[in-house]
Amino acid sequence: MITGDTTITIDLNKLGRNLDAVRQMVGEEVAVMAVIKANGYGHGAVQIAPTLLAHGAGYLAVARLEEAIPLREAYPDAPLFVLGYTPDRLLETAVEQRITLTVFTAHQARLLSEAGKKHGLTPVLHLKAETGFNRLGTDDVNELRAILQTPGLNVEGIYSHLALKDRPSDEIQLKRFLDMVYTLEQEGYAFRYKHIADSISAVDYPDFRLNMIRPGAILYGMKSFESDCITVEPVMSMQTRIARLRRIEVGEGVGYDLDWVAQRPSVIATLPFGYADGYPRALGGKGYVTIRGVKCPLVGILCMDQCVADVTDVPDVPDVPDVQEGDTAVIYGDGTQNTLSVAEAAQLAGCNKNEILCRLTQRPARIYHSC
Ligand SMILES: *Cc1c(COP(=O)(O)O)cnc(C)c1O
Repeated sequence: MITGDTTITIDLNKLGRNLDAVRQMVGEEVAVMAVIKANGYGHGAVQIAPTLLAHGAGYLAVARLEEAIPLREAYPDAPLFVLGYTPDRLLETAVEQRITLTVFTAHQARLLSEAGKKHGLTPVLHLKAETGFNRLGTDDVNELRAILQTPGLNVEGIYSHLALKDRPSDEIQLKRFLDMVYTLEQEGYAFRYKHIADSISAVDYPDFRLNMIRPGAILYGMKSFESDCITVEPVMSMQTRIARLRRIEVGEGVGYDLDWVAQRPSVIATLPFGYADGYPRALGGKGYVTIRGVKCPLVGILCMDQCVADVTDVPDVPDVPDVQEGDTAVIYGDGTQNTLSVAEAAQLAGCNKNEILCRLTQRPARIYHSC
């Protein structure tokens, strides 16, 4: 396979260090379920899985069963978890593939039990408790009891998810969760894993860690938490090369609708990336790339496959021989050396950091670095 000029670099050493930092922060009694849904937040789930397992992830979690299947094909023994809802018709596949499911109805527990019997396997599941997020789960303890009483199942855990509105409302959710867990434990049921914390809550609320956490964003170096008790680094960077340089006169327009018009004699660089690579179209006219350490604003309407940057202020372009067509432009960096961080891109585009990451498409080749 050939690799074009627009590429995404994934630093597996940084990914491993981020997970090490998380595990160090929570200590050995807390298991880490590493969330790699949405193709590992754009980083490539199959490619990053070995690093996460080698650095002590206890589970790899995806949102839907169809994301777990390629991971199972690549890693026959990896512990895999589905966070979302699995339709009835796919439950048997999940059992055969030995994938741990999220379950909150006695109806699905029965179907799993039957599938387990048929294949001579014990389906593994975590109960999902509804504590106020109102997305998945049940707050009916009788329903949870019915699942626990279904024969032939391994109910390995129980969990819930926080709305992260503010500390008081998150605490109400935690209390509802622990009340449900306590009620069931009093009746003699035991759970190997109890979990409610994602990246933000795992850092900012130490008492929410229980004995398992489910970090996603933080593993990729995204910081939305407030505490500075942990340092993580962005794992992903994205870069391209200048396809063409051109001088234009005052009054000349660039791109669709000639939306941007040069106010001074300008040097513009055409770059081979666009919204079909997952770069937000909303960053046309707002984002920038970094060439020779200089911020070069994107001008005009961002196209599907290409965009144009104003490189007039890059010293000596294009006359100095070391700056020319083919030179590197940083699309996303770590925010140092005038590069656009994922956090700043999210702010400019009016979305969140996870969206910037997971919208990256398959077109740019991923290049994996490790030593
Ligand atoms: C996506 C997800 C996570 C991870 O969230 P981050 O904010 O990326 O840490 C944890 N739990 C559930 C249920 C999720 O859907």
